[in-house]
Amino acid sequence: EIPPSPGPIKMRTSDLSKTTHEQRSQLLRRPVLKSEEMISKVKPIVDAVRQRGDAALLELTAKFDKAKMSSTVIFPPYAPETMQLDEEVRKAIDVAYANIRKFHEAQKSDEPLVVETMPGVVCTRFARPIARVGLYVPGGTAVLPSTALMLGIPAQVAGCKEIVLATPPRPDGSISPEVMYVAQLVGASAILKAGGAQAVAAMAYGTKTVPKVDKIFGPGNQWVTAAKMLVQNDTDALVSIDMPAGPSEVLVIADSTANPAFVAADLLSQAEHGIDSQVVLVSVDLSLEHLTAIEEEVDKQANALSRVDILRVSVAKSLIIKVKTVEEAFEFSNDYAPEHLILHLENASQRVQLVENAGSVFVGAFTPESCGDYASGTNHTLPTNGYARQFSGVNTLSFQKHITSQEITAVGLSALGPVVVTLADCEGLSAHANAVRVRLNEAAKSSV
Ligand code: NAD
Repeated sequence: EIPPSPGPIKMRTSDLSKTTHEQRSQLLRRPVLKSEEMISKVKPIVDAVRQRGDAALLELTAKFDKAKMSSTVIFPPYAPETMQLDEEVRKAIDVAYANIRKFHEAQKSDEPLVVETMPGVVCTRFARPIARVGLYVPGGTAVLPSTALMLGIPAQVAGCKEIVLATPPRPDGSISPEVMYVAQLVGASAILKAGGAQAVAAMAYGTKTVPKVDKIFGPGNQWVTAAKMLVQNDTDALVSIDMPAGPSEVLVIADSTANPAFVAADLLSQAEHGIDSQVVLVSVDLSLEHLTAIEEEVDKQANALSRVDILRVSVAKSLIIKVKTVEEAFEFSNDYAPEHLILHLENASQRVQLVENAGSVFVGAFTPESCGDYASGTNHTLPTNGYARQFSGVNTLSFQKHITSQEITAVGLSALGPVVVTLADCEGLSAHANAVRVRLNEAAKSSV
């Protein structure tokens, strides 16, 4: 779908004050995800792995990743020669690891919550790690050690006992040294050298060699996403997933203080992900000269970037939305619910309170999204496609579950019991009422 014709790399512009309600809804919409069609396509792959296990996994890996192997799983200790890195890259990964770990450790809920709701009635909530997790690190078209960090660190911090990291192998059957290095840093207990739907199925059901997991995390192409959705609905698999994933997106809100070169660079850093990436600029009453300066920067910078062919398509599909006020800008942004939201605004930090829906927010001129993508500390696995309305990005709590408990004394039951009996009788559940009455009767006898 990449057109050969050069020409200016330019976004489309809409003035929100001149759009109808229907046109506005159209602007908020992403390209339709064909999830049903994809699910029927991945089903034979998932079924093959479920039924024939390792044999199917090896065949599919030979077919899709061109890697002929005798085994797809490796366990620690991982051979040091598989993770030899350029010193600069190793140091950069180490800094990113430290920052991401620091931020995700602070999110951990270790202390139980203890509340005495009535005298003698104590309710508690405590966290436990999900025992076995599967992390999908995409590897088809790019090497993504950053995704291995973003999924592996919260799993490690949460205390997950088994961490299976799956990623497609290279044709020689190896994994990139960067991903191997991160796998070791985060304490992966197994590495599955497989990709796509077959990797997801292997982790969901387990095979003779691949450990079964309880929850599968991570981004991936449409094969990966559809397989995650399929296995999560199969009660035999008994597995959950982090969130539905779609193409990456950014919304930038800019006012007259915005630096055109920074705004353009931020838009392009997202648009380079793929031709289906979504990039939106909300212009808060920018002058014609200011907007033109941004458009010129987009064209100039895009032409100097390595993925200019992808940019040509994704930028052409992208939007500039003109609004008059900051409030209108946030109203649009909150309705759009972007994965990434960048604020090029005067007093940007004070505007964060206007954010209702977004995966992650980047505040002020010196906060490029790239920092959050790699190394500042926040997670880059975030809800797309408007799911920021109801989903949080991946975080330490995504790797834990919360268990409640309660302990009631005889005094507590004497006050609470009659309330419960009344409600149970009201619902016609006499055994529920009885479980309280036998105790109240016993307590009445012993107090006589
Ligand atoms: P991938 O690892 O997701 O997929 C590669 C696998 O897809 C292969 O191993 C193969 O098994 C399967 N596959 C490919 N073509 C197939 C076919 N015709 N039939 C069956 N299976 C097939 O890697 P990718 O393709 O490079 O995609 C990576 C995706 O992850 C991109 O969409 C990227 O935008 C996304 N991503 C998102 C984030 C994020 O945080 N949002 C981060 C990194 C990557």
